[in-house]
Amino acid sequence: MVEYSKDEIINLLNSKGRDILSLLHSAESLRGTDRITYSKNVFLPLTEICRNECGYCTFKKTPEDENTGILMNEAEIFAILYEADKYGCKEALFTFGERPEETDEVKIALKDSGFLNMVDFLHHICDETLNNTGLLPHSNPGVLEKNELKKLKEVNASMGLMLETTSKRLMKTIVHEKSPGKNPYLRIKTIENAGKLKIPFTTGLLIGIGETIEERAESLLEIKRMNDKYGHIQEIIIQNFKPKPGIPMQSWKEPSLMEMIKMVAVTRLLFPDVGVQVPPNLNKQNAQVFLLAGADDWGGVSPITKDHVNPEAPWPELEDLKIMTEEMGLFLDERLPVYDKFISSEFLSHRIMEKLN
Ligand code: SF4
Repeated sequence: MVEYSKDEIINLLNSKGRDILSLLHSAESLRGTDRITYSKNVFLPLTEICRNECGYCTFKKTPEDENTGILMNEAEIFAILYEADKYGCKEALFTFGERPEETDEVKIALKDSGFLNMVDFLHHICDETLNNTGLLPHSNPGVLEKNELKKLKEVNASMGLMLETTSKRLMKTIVHEKSPGKNPYLRIKTIENAGKLKIPFTTGLLIGIGETIEERAESLLEIKRMNDKYGHIQEIIIQNFKPKPGIPMQSWKEPSLMEMIKMVAVTRLLFPDVGVQVPPNLNKQNAQVFLLAGADDWGGVSPITKDHVNPEAPWPELEDLKIMTEEMGLFLDERLPVYDKFISSEFLSHRIMEKLN
């Protein structure tokens, strides 16, 4: 496999004119498959409370807002999961704010439900999901300690945490100044611990939040360092920042299409064997072009729940996704929340292996 230095990556990310075509050609030919995947999922935002306040967030709410979801109760959760089961969903996606129990309202709601913290509650919900439905849990609970990851591995087919960026500089800007959990050190530690525990892991970068080209290259190299060491990264999401009304960064510009295309292509060059995903709902008009840059996954598509993190951007219908994929001479295929190559007792708990057999 070709190794790329930081300077070479920066040069590729700065490609212009015909060099972009040659970058796309190299990346697309490295994909090595005509199969473009998606996961049929259901999205459960267990709480809308989060200890962070990212400058681009539209998900987090405060306890003062009377419509805030403090903590979903088990009956609500399972009503949705049973519905998802009927629709043939395979992935139960549990995404929510980070360390919500640092907020009193969540702490009390957890206590009332018989749990000391969010990880214990999540473990219970994942356990019951495995017991009572055909779905496989995939959890994104934010930064975690190693013992917490170990506990959740028992009942998750895979887990995820966006690295977003390795830029410590952004911790002093509107982007992450109120988000202790976005300290790259903590995020790298979580992803690294997931590697030590052999948890199939999804991560990714958020593009256009003020990071430089050099910092994009460093972020990719950091993911590569961890994957080379532990081999646990199943998928890298390249997500574009979107300005939205009401957020602190509402007047920021989103990254250009060309920046995104180059980022996807360079990710493919560095990670020939890892899934590369660009969320189609955030790139309605341009999604197909990322397939020319080596992307091979559309991510989770839900027949019954909206994207709670980007509620203004509904997911395309499955039929539309199929047409978009086939127009590019490729074919759409469903995958599980754990990628095929990680289905082994090396990476999955006995519990998950049993469920898959
Ligand atoms: S960590 Fe996620 S949910 Fe929390 S404020 Fe940041 S973007 Fe929002």
